[in-house]
Amino acid sequence: MVNINWDELGFSYMKTPFRYLSHWKNGEWDEGSLTEDNQLHISESSPALHYGQQCFEGLKAYRCKDGSINLFRMDQNAKRFNQSGSRLMMPHLPEEKFMDAIKQVVLANHEYVPPYGTGGTMYIRPLLIGVGDFMGIGAAPEYIFTVFCMPVGLYFKGGLKPTNFLISDYDRAAPVGTGAVKVGGNYAASLLPGTEAKKRSFSDCIYLDPQTHTKIEEVGSANFFGITKDNQFITPTSPSILPSITKYSLLYLAKERLGMEAIEDDVYLNELDKLSEAGACGTAAVITPIGGIQNGEEFHVFHSEEEVGPVTEKLYNELIGIQFGDIEAPKGWITNLTVEK
Ligand SMILES: *Cc1c(COP(=O)(O)O)cnc(C)c1O
Repeated sequence: MVNINWDELGFSYMKTPFRYLSHWKNGEWDEGSLTEDNQLHISESSPALHYGQQCFEGLKAYRCKDGSINLFRMDQNAKRFNQSGSRLMMPHLPEEKFMDAIKQVVLANHEYVPPYGTGGTMYIRPLLIGVGDFMGIGAAPEYIFTVFCMPVGLYFKGGLKPTNFLISDYDRAAPVGTGAVKVGGNYAASLLPGTEAKKRSFSDCIYLDPQTHTKIEEVGSANFFGITKDNQFITPTSPSILPSITKYSLLYLAKERLGMEAIEDDVYLNELDKLSEAGACGTAAVITPIGGIQNGEEFHVFHSEEEVGPVTEKLYNELIGIQFGDIEAPKGWITNLTVEK
């Protein structure tokens, strides 16, 4: 047994015993294998370092009541990984290879998947970087695909409590830039606005659509959703939003399980009065209820700054119930791994 205080886990790096590594060279992937070395040895001229040629994913493994481990919609992460990679001219990674690497890493580190009931999960980080000796501006001659994982705690220790967000004066992505793919450059661009928001005691910032700055687009590293006063689930649509798998799962659950109308549509900043609840969603944050939004001098309050809204709470319970294996999942959403004792 590993010696970890599961209740004190946050969201910080922890070196677990095994990670997966595979190299792409001369047009093909090698076999790939697990390794205990958590250092990457790459050329100083690697395009990932100079020109940001890299993409990543984030997903979680969940410990079920019976001790087995659930993976949530990892085929969707595999697809998005390739969409991100191809936008930056990186080689295709077979979806089977992606999913096999994740299963290998989770099983090899299974003792680090937090026990059921602690609220903790195992966060899994697949990464693709362009490496090799190369100095022109162009695609790298070689690539490294790696997957590592670490146990993480409940994002909200006090349960679902609404927090406040700040409308950013910056953009995180250009209108037809790389906003829709999961690449490090978007995050480098969002570090300053995110830090400024946190300094002012906001949870994070909210980005507006980069073209007109009139519509809500993204919440830091999560997607935005609202519940309208006539009980509709609404989430913004735009070519520069990262298509969150959590968001698409909530769209489905709102419609199929809660019987709501669920749509992707514009959410105008001057029409926030239409919403009774709002939230941010993503793998890391799961669902973060939004209490209020600061826009310049104006502060808009939703449902209640103190309490989570009833629809947001229902969606949260449905989602985590499915992820931890307590509620029946829609077909194909869960990959269940049995741990050999
Ligand atoms: C990863 C990510 C999300 C959340 O996507 P999920 O698939 O739900 O984890 C949202 N916004 C950005 C910018 C992201 O990088």
